[in-house]
Amino acid sequence: MKIALIAHDKKKQDLVQFTLAYKPILQDHQLFATGTTGKRIMEATGLDVHRFQSGPLGGDQQIGAMIANDDMDVVIFFRDPLTAQPHEPDISALIRLSDVYEIPLATNMATAELIIHALERNELEWRSVIRERRNLDKGPSL
Ligand code: PGA
Repeated sequence: MKIALIAHDKKKQDLVQFTLAYKPILQDHQLFATGTTGKRIMEATGLDVHRFQSGPLGGDQQIGAMIANDDMDVVIFFRDPLTAQPHEPDISALIRLSDVYEIPLATNMATAELIIHALERNELEWRSVIRERRNLDKGPSL
């Protein structure tokens, strides 16, 4: 599965702790992250993370583009609900696209725990079925 990891500044330490705790599960998946979040996770855990731009510089939109291509299976986004962000429109767009494509999205630790345990039990395999079906619908590429 392809998993996106994003955390706003005040939540980055929480996400680092989360990825450390669940490294044995996460290491079996393809990980993507916004720039600074990805750097922090890689430094702390040694996990291999594909890093996009930093969030305020377009990283959320890059992850959004993967969602729009049905190329992202899970989004774990520890957002900070108490601090205004300069890239609020990008954050809303990412959450909106997750809903459009019905991607499991956790915006806090409690839900992230549920999703990670679902991953561990292979309960998100329906994502591969949907991805394959959508790819068939697209037909052969020109
Ligand atoms: P960052 O971006 O990981 O580059 O800090 C996350 C964000 O603030 O949206």
